[in-house]
Amino acid sequence: MTDKHHIRKAVLVKREGLPCEKQALFSSRVVEALRQSEVLARSTSILAYLPFRGEVDLSLLFDWLQDQGKKLAFPKIIDKANGYMEPYFVDTPWRNNVKPGAFNILEPEGDIRVANPALLDLVFVPGVAFDSESYRLGFGGGFYDRFLLRLGTHTLKVGIAYQFQVMAQIPRDPHDIALDGVCTERGLFLK
Ligand code: ADP
Ligand code: MG
Repeated sequence: MTDKHHIRKAVLVKREGLPCEKQALFSSRVVEALRQSEVLARSTSILAYLPFRGEVDLSLLFDWLQDQGKKLAFPKIIDKANGYMEPYFVDTPWRNNVKPGAFNILEPEGDIRVANPALLDLVFVPGVAFDSESYRLGFGGGFYDRFLLRLGTHTLKVGIAYQFQVMAQIPRDPHDIALDGVCTERGLFLK
């Protein structure tokens, strides 16, 4: 078993065992840190995600973003076997335009438009673990590694996690892409 595999297993056990009230409290703190951030204020097109296996839940932020007139997108898995996903903007209210898709993750469906990844301003990147240089470990499918290559040079990539998912260093492969920062319940840290 690889080091990545060991880290995934340990963090997922901890994350899936996090009590609901802790998950809600930490998620609301992450949402608050993002809501007050300069990076969000200057972003118009934002790719977020819908939570899976205990991930930080950003949904409190989504109505607010749409009320502000921001364009909100979520990923849709297009080719599960090849680890390929595509972002889609969802019309207001976002809740009416998502339904369970691959891996049973909620994904855009209904009033949606495909988004050009190169034109996104801000991407919230979920993950299993992140390190002090904002490298990311996912579930092992490489979905985000492939996707992040398609972003614009201006697109800001922010990892979203509980603080316990952040470690000194995680193993890196040549295809792994560093993010621009990470936001946890302790706040937003940009490199
Ligand atoms: P994760 O980032 O989900 O934790 P890994 O970094 O271990 O997972 O990558 C999972 C798989 O995806 C690896 O087999 C890797 O070769 C493949 N992969 C990652 N990025 C790319 C890419 N840009 N092109 C092709 N395959 C990739
Ligand atoms: Mg990777």
